Amino acid sequence: MSQTVLVTGGAGYIGSHACKALRAAGYTPVTFDNLSTGWEDAVKFGPFEKGDLLDRARLDEIFAKHKPVAVMHFAAYSQVGESMQDPAKYWRNNVIGSLTLIEATVAAGCKNFVFSSTCATYGDQDNVVLNEDSVQLPINSYGASKRAIEDILDNFGDAFGLNHVIFRYFNVAGSDPETEVGEFHQPETHLIPLMLDAIAGKRDALTIFGTDYDTPDGTCIRDYVHVCDLVDAHVLGLKWLEEGKGSRVFNLGTGKGFSVREVVDQSRAVTNKEVPYVEGDRRPGDCTKLVSGSERAMNELGWEPHRSNLKQMIADAWAWHQIGHYEK
Ligand code: UDP
Repeated sequence: MSQTVLVTGGAGYIGSHACKALRAAGYTPVTFDNLSTGWEDAVKFGPFEKGDLLDRARLDEIFAKHKPVAVMHFAAYSQVGESMQDPAKYWRNNVIGSLTLIEATVAAGCKNFVFSSTCATYGDQDNVVLNEDSVQLPINSYGASKRAIEDILDNFGDAFGLNHVIFRYFNVAGSDPETEVGEFHQPETHLIPLMLDAIAGKRDALTIFGTDYDTPDGTCIRDYVHVCDLVDAHVLGLKWLEEGKGSRVFNLGTGKGFSVREVVDQSRAVTNKEVPYVEGDRRPGDCTKLVSGSERAMNELGWEPHRSNLKQMIADAWAWHQIGHYEK
């Protein structure tokens, strides 16, 4: 019988892709999700258990039933803008929810934990390529909530031997090239899917948030990584833990930054259609530039991103966009 991995947030964008990768690697992914932002239709590669991170009794029940060898923890609120308006939502769900999950993991005797963190923990450090040893100075509640969870994991590692791999994601984009799962948020807030909606006439023009940043074209710079490459790294992280290599932090990005205007230009090239956009104010909480140093993941995990060039990511997102959506 294959080994079970508990995947919180497995009904969401990244979690559903992780379930597909886990299944391909021979594991049984058990999705634990409250469906607040996820979709039951996206749970295709293993059992579904509805539940909330804040419900300790339900978590204990799931650990007893499925006996996972590891936890992959994706479930979180993840919108920078919203986190500035409703910080309590981020501290309660992301931090208290994760603490509850981590306590349940330890209580169940499960020793391996893979956590999805973010480059937003680094904050605004202009003109620096961020590596894992860079100082973490988040400027939004989302980043602060994720940094707090990293600290909890370190403390539980010291106290109880909970081995953890922390991945700090840069900007995740693209979709499963086989279009079994894809990116579908409601409401959508992310740049590439919003742009594709605008191109397809499904919504009004895209608003570029800020054109007066200290960057060559005045718009924010981000490092985009393909969701399939990202989840491959998670499977490698799981193997790392199973091999007893201990706790470690890895950035996941490509080391190449693209401005919002460059993403607009590439989207026009990929779709061969005009991108309707207007220029607007800055969005509170946005960093000027977030670009990853990802040598550690490549050198130590043997991570090889295959699809993380911007054109490929937009093309895969566009293919999913033609057919893909989930319904409640
Ligand atoms: N962005 C934008 N218009 C939008 C959504 C996003 O200009 O409607 C910009 C945003 O300011 C940031 C980049 O696109 O510089 C990526 O934003 P996204 O929300 O996709 O990811 P984040 O970097 O916040 O995780």
